[in-house]
Amino acid sequence: MKLQEYQAKRIFGQYGVPVPQGDVATTPAEAAAIAERIGGTVVIKSQVLVGGRGKAGGIKLAKSPAEAEAVAGRILGMDIKGLKVKKVLVDPAADIRKELYLGMVLDRGSRRVVVMASSEGGVDIEEVAAHTPEKILTLPVDPCLGLKEYQARDLALGIGLPKEQLGPFAKICQGLYDCYMGCDASLAEINPLAVLGDGTLKALDGKMVLDDSALFRHADLAAMRDEDEETPEERDARLNGLSYVKLDGEIGCMVNGAGLAMASMDIIKFYGGAPANFLDIGGGAKADKVAAALRIILSDPNVKAVLFNIFGGITRCDEVARGILVALAEIKTTVPMVVRLVGTNDVEGRAILAQAKMATAETLSEAAQKAVAAARG
Ligand code: GDP
Ligand code: MN
Repeated sequence: MKLQEYQAKRIFGQYGVPVPQGDVATTPAEAAAIAERIGGTVVIKSQVLVGGRGKAGGIKLAKSPAEAEAVAGRILGMDIKGLKVKKVLVDPAADIRKELYLGMVLDRGSRRVVVMASSEGGVDIEEVAAHTPEKILTLPVDPCLGLKEYQARDLALGIGLPKEQLGPFAKICQGLYDCYMGCDASLAEINPLAVLGDGTLKALDGKMVLDDSALFRHADLAAMRDEDEETPEERDARLNGLSYVKLDGEIGCMVNGAGLAMASMDIIKFYGGAPANFLDIGGGAKADKVAAALRIILSDPNVKAVLFNIFGGITRCDEVARGILVALAEIKTTVPMVVRLVGTNDVEGRAILAQAKMATAETLSEAAQKAVAAARG
């Protein structure tokens, strides 16, 4: 789950990372009131879950509350990379001398959290990585020892910070690491980490991605979920306990088990089709879950056929068959469907489907070929 900049920075602040003391507004009048309270020049920043807002015109300075109101009026409702701006962050404007980059991600290869620091902040770090990778220093952190101050100071030296900034940088680095670990994040990033006119450091931008699988132990963070964080389908899937990823093919897939779902997608490709989604209904799915899954699959207008591939272990094939019929009674559709049911109660399951005149298949190959043919019309 991604957090908005203002949320990430508030959390960073709780871990001792210096952040601007701004606030978030949903109307121009609110933005003006925040600017009034702050006094002086403010920066109005669109809150959308994409990077490069600056270049897209979603970040502007305002010299007075009246200007803040006007600027916020222009930014609110703006479209940035397909996302509508519903909130703006109003921060005191910073006197930036230099923009650094500081980030941490989970590196699966080294099985460590890796800290990355660069003197080339502000711009896309991907650009720096592509053209001048030597300007990004990386440090894999030992999970037992944590991030030590001397290591953080070493990074600071490596990116060319002067002596008086080594301590403050190390403190920010360790604060961000504690924040990353404490929140069960998979990414925490400050870009830019600005060196201000008075020589102090401040996190002007904040990005955080939280590990969805750990959200159950962070009710406060889970409650921060933004409505734009996921599509309506992804939301529906999450609330129904389904793993769903939308893809751009034309064959909807409903499968129990992640591995079987991957295999089903592969075999659809093998027979010349393309999967419209990954969907794992999980073990032991009951009729209502199957119905929810079918509703989600069919809400995608690209879907020209649906393939069900159910291996009944804990999941009972008769339950799934009933779920399909419940769903079809509710959703009127002409999209052709092919069902492969094997395992626990498969005979009962197939009988239920046969009564409803639904196409079934004996093997996965046969089911995939039928689905590909059906999608072609
Ligand atoms: P992003 O483009 O979505 O990554 O948004 P950022 O928050 O990183 O802002 C982009 C750029 O706007 C930064 O790199 C800064 O150059 C500039 N910026 C952000 N906040 C301020 C500020 O308070 N004062 C000034 N002068 N520039 C700012
Ligand atoms: Mn940024």
